[in-house]
Amino acid sequence: MRVVIAGAGIGGLTTALMCHARGIPCTIYEAAREVREVGVGINVLPHAIRELAALGLLDELDTVGVRTRELTYLTRAGQEVWSELRGTHAGHDVPQFSIHRGRFQKVLYDAVRDRLGPDAVKVGRRLSGFIQDEAGVTAHFTDAVDGGAGQTVRAEVLICADGIHSVGRRTFYRDEGPPSWQGVVMWRGAAEWPVWKDGESMAIAGGLGGKFVLYPIAPRMGRTQLMNWVVNVRIKDPAVSTPPPDSWSRQASLATVLPHARRFAVPGMDIEGLVRASPAIFEYPMADRDPLPRWTFGRVTLLGDAAHPMYPVGSNGASQAILDARCLTDALARAEHPRAALWAYEKERLPKTAEVVRTNRIGGPERVIDEAEKRAPAGFTDIETVLSFEERKAITGGYATMTAGPQIRRVV
Ligand SMILES: Cc1cc2nc3c(=O)[nH]c(=O)nc-3n(C[C@H](O)[C@H](O)[C@H](O)COP(=O)(O)OP(=O)(O)OC[C@H]3O[C@@H](n4cnc5c(N)ncnc54)[C@H](O)[C@@H]3O)c2cc1C
Repeated sequence: MRVVIAGAGIGGLTTALMCHARGIPCTIYEAAREVREVGVGINVLPHAIRELAALGLLDELDTVGVRTRELTYLTRAGQEVWSELRGTHAGHDVPQFSIHRGRFQKVLYDAVRDRLGPDAVKVGRRLSGFIQDEAGVTAHFTDAVDGGAGQTVRAEVLICADGIHSVGRRTFYRDEGPPSWQGVVMWRGAAEWPVWKDGESMAIAGGLGGKFVLYPIAPRMGRTQLMNWVVNVRIKDPAVSTPPPDSWSRQASLATVLPHARRFAVPGMDIEGLVRASPAIFEYPMADRDPLPRWTFGRVTLLGDAAHPMYPVGSNGASQAILDARCLTDALARAEHPRAALWAYEKERLPKTAEVVRTNRIGGPERVIDEAEKRAPAGFTDIETVLSFEERKAITGGYATMTAGPQIRRVV
């Protein structure tokens, strides 16, 4: 069985490594001209890291990322609502990683080239269409540089891991239109900054109405560390405005972001100083898409953001793509016919990820902050009198169980 993958993002690269580990030949076709370190920080949860550890990538991840120790949820004014240990500190057998998205992608890319060979990823090849017959699928890739003749490839299976604007998805759902946007913009940046707390912790201040997210994404360099931040604010009425272009490289000015960043407080962190110190600020609309009724059509299926783009809440974007890859490649290795494998994959993964998409729309675990702010808009002296421990645990623990199965978690 030969597999063709469209897209060398986190989902596509992981799928290739897992195909290789199961003896399934595959090739990736990536639209970008080169795999560059684009993006800022992401978090990858233990249930996904376990899959990467099984691929032997833990040491490489340690050289570029941070093993996350603690996550604290705060009100916008910086009052603590909930704090919990993460990864191995919470009893998991593997860590959670806070990591630069581009450096993480590079770890996967290098492993693919190393294990599958230097030609395993064809760059500058954009999936433009495909046709299927009884024996296989023929995919066409245009030359992403000049739109030229490109390349036609024959395989038994085509996996569309081509992100939120997936060509595969558009082929099956022609009338779906653009991603859904509710008026929220994310500004992101990172700066080399004096180590905050223990150098392994993250904080989220504020919920659905507006939040500030903070975490380190690289190992310490002496007394400093690359610190990632995100400001999420609803700035437009989606009924009358169109979202800004969703290019991960689109920059925003300091003057635009600072007034919004100043609305948040995190103990021990000079938010304004951090934002000012960031060499670039990126703007991206927070968007997702409705869950689909089907991902699989014959020998073609969707994976990762192509299948279930979701709000970046609860660290699940990349994590769920990795779980998709595991499920799909296991099914391919097991099934007698590729079609049966793709169906089995969809049956297992579609309902689970649809629930994550829906829950992220109402804030995911960060709903605990919204609830505290709603009940005590002017702040509190004791969170226990506002939202009991059991209530807070039910919100955050319920989300974790839904996204990753039963959790071993220790609350700080
Ligand atoms: C450049 C970039 C930067 C990002 N930065 C961040 C970030 O800072 N923080 C964050 O939380 N999330 C970020 N994301 C999103 C995050 O990586 C995903 O939500 C998550 O990792 C799921 O990954 P995926 O592989 O399904 O999709 P993606 O990571 O979107 O990868 C899809 C890949 O497919 C390629 N592609 C697209 N169309 C085609 C086509 N027609 N043919 C072939 N290839 C195609 C894209 O170039 C990309 O490499 C970024 C995504 C991208 C593409």
